[in-house]
Amino acid sequence: MDEENAPLSRFRFQRMLETLGKKEGRGTELITVYIPPGKQVSEVMNDLRSEWGTAGNIKSKPTRKNVQDALTKAMERLKLFKRIPDNGLVLFAGTIASDQLGVGDMETYVLIPPEPISIYYYRCEHRFMLEPLHELLRSEDTYGILVMDSKDATFALLKGRRADIVREITSGVPGKHRAGGQSARRFDRLREMHLNEYFTRVGKHITEIFLDVPNLKGIIVGGSGPTKEDFLKGNHIHYELKDRILTVVDTAYTGVEGIKEVVERSKDFLRNVRFYEERKIVQDFLRHIGHDTGLATYGEQEVIQALKSVNVKTLLLSEGVRRALLKLRCRECGHEEDRIVDLDELGEFEGNLDEIRCSKCGNSVYELTEKEDLIEALVKMAEEVGADVEMISTQTEEGEMILKSFGGIAAILKYRQFQ
Ligand SMILES: [Zn+2]
Repeated sequence: MDEENAPLSRFRFQRMLETLGKKEGRGTELITVYIPPGKQVSEVMNDLRSEWGTAGNIKSKPTRKNVQDALTKAMERLKLFKRIPDNGLVLFAGTIASDQLGVGDMETYVLIPPEPISIYYYRCEHRFMLEPLHELLRSEDTYGILVMDSKDATFALLKGRRADIVREITSGVPGKHRAGGQSARRFDRLREMHLNEYFTRVGKHITEIFLDVPNLKGIIVGGSGPTKEDFLKGNHIHYELKDRILTVVDTAYTGVEGIKEVVERSKDFLRNVRFYEERKIVQDFLRHIGHDTGLATYGEQEVIQALKSVNVKTLLLSEGVRRALLKLRCRECGHEEDRIVDLDELGEFEGNLDEIRCSKCGNSVYELTEKEDLIEALVKMAEEVGADVEMISTQTEEGEMILKSFGGIAAILKYRQFQ
């Protein structure tokens, strides 16, 4: 995902899936092609050409034509790629059924998934096939887990609810009790040396395993006894990963059992990490509102106004906002007007456009010149004036509050506005 604003690209991807999910064909005629990275474009072209041939057997003439047209469109789009992108490629094409009988528009979409896909398939259905992409969206951030004591260390990757053991190593450090006849000092020195060598090895494995994991949110260290703390005190961890150690958990076991314990015990902690930034921002906003500092505002018009006067430091947008920004233009006098409408009421609004009177000349001859998701429109405005954008989920109490009490659109301002 876009490193700069992962929640935003996640939101965009989510909305895209929503839009695609609503499209329907009149018959079984919407095609979906999933192409994993590494696949040759020419090979996919061949497969699609052969599907085009097979589609010739479809009995219904209009369906046959639509499927073959969709395949042709998909191939046209695919041809523009020299190679399949690193995350793979998904093509959608088909004639979307409309309310008017016999009329439909051919629509084509090309999607580069936010994470690599591994499937290769072609589907022709009544709808676009989106499940694998929904699956991607559900996959959560990744955490590294290290469980260690003086005997062994186990490394795992936690993704969603699943922890996969990546590596297990033994320490080679002798136990605490020396053999008879050995001098205590010499024994301690040797043990110290072995421990140090073990810690260096653990550090190396941490780098090897965790440094290049995409979307790694941090590392949790667990284990029984003080060895893990001793390890963390030393200078054994790669500098880029040092400040990624999120927390240390005491466990009764090490090894696979220890990993399970860490997962179990860090549930609440992880939930908080995920939403930590989000809560901090919302709390900051609430503090301004609560203390009436004049440095915060909310509501569509208020925030748009603040954006226009280049006075927004941070724009807070709830994922739960489902509205569209429409630009209307009067055919008679040229007057332009913005309207904000619920996404669910969009169709109705457009249908009744000829009933709206121009607020300047009074004629009912408005035309719709632009239609955009309100969130997208606000993000663009924010980008133009250099304001930070924070997407706020509805999964925290604070996020719920932004949506329910403040309409999902709020801003922290640069300076106080004159009332
Ligand atoms: Zn007018």
